Amino acid sequence: MNARRAVAAARGSTKGTAALSIENHRLVGENVSFRPTPNVGGALAPRYLVLHYTAGRSLESSVESLCTQKPQGNASAHLVLGRDGRIVQLAPFNVVTWHAGVSQWSGLVGMNQYAVGVEMDNAGVMQQIGGQYTAWFGKVYPASEVLLAEHKHGGGVKPWHAYTEAQIARALELAELLVAHYGLEDVLGHEDIAPHRKTDPGPAFPLGAVKSRAIGRTDDALPRYVVISPSLNIRKGPDASFETVAPALRKNTELQMLEPGARWSRVEVIGATDIEGWVNNSFIVKAGG
Ligand SMILES: [Zn+2]
Repeated sequence: MNARRAVAAARGSTKGTAALSIENHRLVGENVSFRPTPNVGGALAPRYLVLHYTAGRSLESSVESLCTQKPQGNASAHLVLGRDGRIVQLAPFNVVTWHAGVSQWSGLVGMNQYAVGVEMDNAGVMQQIGGQYTAWFGKVYPASEVLLAEHKHGGGVKPWHAYTEAQIARALELAELLVAHYGLEDVLGHEDIAPHRKTDPGPAFPLGAVKSRAIGRTDDALPRYVVISPSLNIRKGPDASFETVAPALRKNTELQMLEPGARWSRVEVIGATDIEGWVNNSFIVKAGG
């Protein structure tokens, strides 16, 4: 199951677990715990949700770090989301936490003052050393936990730690809940509000799909494209070296844009149940244009 399908599946089922809810600015639900961090600021009236990866080793190590005061500067977040779907809340949603750093969005500066921050346990971008994928902290990950992709800000194809289905499903549930409860204006990545410094949550996270579902945009509101070449390969990554994910698309196939890029874009085939991948921009045009 790919990431987008995990999003769709999460939305379509309750899976027998009680839904998350918010009471007095605290998350309530199964596998949710609270551990207060001292790294907090003043009052917060949330307008945005900002998603991050921890670039860490584990849920526990990240929680520990975000609850520690450090001479070189303190960091925190409202929630930390584990790879098994567990959530640890570090501060109530009406209190500022320190996850965004120097950042801006839509005319606002310093997004900690406006945003709930959710950190997702993920090792981040890796290095490929001698056929092995190694995180910055030295742990080696199997190829099955790695996604090769180019970040939407460019920089070439790199190995990124994959998110789990449980994590993506919980992230979607959280995003929908927080947007509904606080009337949030948008769901953003740290990479969106600090594009020159940050790459999280990165290309392994289906931010576009989570965003569009959480803020209630219908798929019809997303830009549609059509294939203009007789046949067009749809691939696992933004480069002709990636394997195709399905038979070549035929001329006039309709596509929904998920993630536009400079040369390659991630799209979903409209009408198909689960075909999503990267296509070369030279062979698609905006529909109805
Ligand atoms: Zn971040």
